[in-house]
Amino acid sequence: MADFHLTTREYHPQNTIIDVGGAKIGDGSLAIIAGPCAIESKDQIFRIASAVKASGATMLRGGAFKPRTSPYTFQGLEDEGIKYLVEAGREVGLPTVSEITDESEIDLFKDVDIIQVGAKNMQNFGLLHALGKVDKPILLKRGFGCTYEEVLSSAEHIMASGNERVILCERGIRTFETYTRFTFDVSSIPSLKTLTHLPVIADPSHPAGRYELIEPLSLAAVAAGADGLIIEVHDRPDEALCDANQALKPDKFESIVRKAMSVKAAL
Ligand code: PEP
Ligand code: MN
Repeated sequence: MADFHLTTREYHPQNTIIDVGGAKIGDGSLAIIAGPCAIESKDQIFRIASAVKASGATMLRGGAFKPRTSPYTFQGLEDEGIKYLVEAGREVGLPTVSEITDESEIDLFKDVDIIQVGAKNMQNFGLLHALGKVDKPILLKRGFGCTYEEVLSSAEHIMASGNERVILCERGIRTFETYTRFTFDVSSIPSLKTLTHLPVIADPSHPAGRYELIEPLSLAAVAAGADGLIIEVHDRPDEALCDANQALKPDKFESIVRKAMSVKAAL
């Protein structure tokens, strides 16, 4: 392995526990982060926030800055979206998670509880260094062409810059398979948990690309030792402006949470 210090278990044998306003990740419980891919309106994020809270979510997600492949698709509500997300999280009593795409946006995230770095930005080292100076946990998603060593190196960049509160997230890698959007690499969960003390969560939505695969991928991730799940939920998938095919309805989400908790309890 490359030159690691701060991310390794040798440096820090105990699991790191991330505490955001009482909601914990890495303490042996199963964190459930849920919400829409993108915040589309105030009404939409408030509706979905209440639905996921009622179904057992412990944190609310929603993208305001969307790094979309095509420039001609919905790019997010930006600062207005962040405002609605924070208001919705406060309304239902859930900490919030949202993705940053550029260092210049950091001030807009002052009331967001966890800042997400997306797969496409996992090796944006300037952004990682800037987030090392921020006093908030960082949810670092695995780049879809990156090895475990590269994931840990990116976490090391954030930590060496001063922020030791990093959560890793497996979200699928690019392979020759095209039926699924990406290939969910379940091996990354026990491998990363062996190598590092940082919490490791799983995103079953982006590798699946189809809502009907989210349950089996979620349960596989929990069985493999994930500290949490981040799942895209939309109460009106037909109207979703982003990632509609993988949007789960709240009733289905609720049943996944129930089964995931049973798998966790069985371990
Ligand atoms: C997302 O969480 O909506 C997202 C864009 O994820 P990823 O960076 O894993 O593609
Ligand atoms: Mn998405």
